[in-house]
Amino acid sequence: MSESVSPIAAALKEIRARIAVSAAAVDRDPATVTLVAVSKTHPLETARLALQAGQRVFGENRVQEAKAKWPALRSEFPDLVLHLIGPLQTNKVREALALFDVIETLDRPRLAEAIADEQARSGHRPRLLVQVNTGDEPQKAGLSPVDVPDFLAACRDQWRLSIAGLMCIPPVDEEPALHFALLADLARRHGLAQLSMGMSGDFETAVRFGATHVRVGTAIFGARPATPD
Ligand SMILES: *Cc1c(COP(=O)(O)O)cnc(C)c1O
Repeated sequence: MSESVSPIAAALKEIRARIAVSAAAVDRDPATVTLVAVSKTHPLETARLALQAGQRVFGENRVQEAKAKWPALRSEFPDLVLHLIGPLQTNKVREALALFDVIETLDRPRLAEAIADEQARSGHRPRLLVQVNTGDEPQKAGLSPVDVPDFLAACRDQWRLSIAGLMCIPPVDEEPALHFALLADLARRHGLAQLSMGMSGDFETAVRFGATHVRVGTAIFGARPATPD
């Protein structure tokens, strides 16, 4: 059976190779880095091309959009893993826990409480990462680094939530390495194994600083169609 290689398959192959080179540079096993393909704004057919090329881990930033695409794809590819990488409103927690395997954007007490309640009700227990606003940018979601220790303690003691790791989106105009180092240090001090950091422009740096998950959209799928406001 001969198949032509789609541009998406070629891009995935190239990114996996670049992850391997970056991992090797710091003596890491490339298998410890998970490529999260960010398919937000792209249609179901585009995500399917990535699935057909062997990609299994995906990121979406909106619950409603994910709900329109992923249940159908999951029935075709039951082993896929879906990450929520965008802000989660408490009134969407029920839908989010039914859809996503990983929620990377836990960032406030009310959301922690809502997730704990919904876990108890539904039995859905997605893996949870805490989003950290490493640049303390007022417009950006995530906890300030200084608030992370108390929040992690409350997740454990008050809501009985098990936290797998930390996630960050560095400020666009700053050296991302400083933010990756800060996130890695916070995770180390709290015994958290997973670090979601690095996007199309900086995933290689993130891998050198210990990322276990890199979230790559544009470099796989091309530019996103403009979203109407
Ligand atoms: C869109 C998005 C990405 C992917 O960004 P690219 O630059 O297209 O790779 C990664 N992380 C988050 C949180 C995003 O919203």
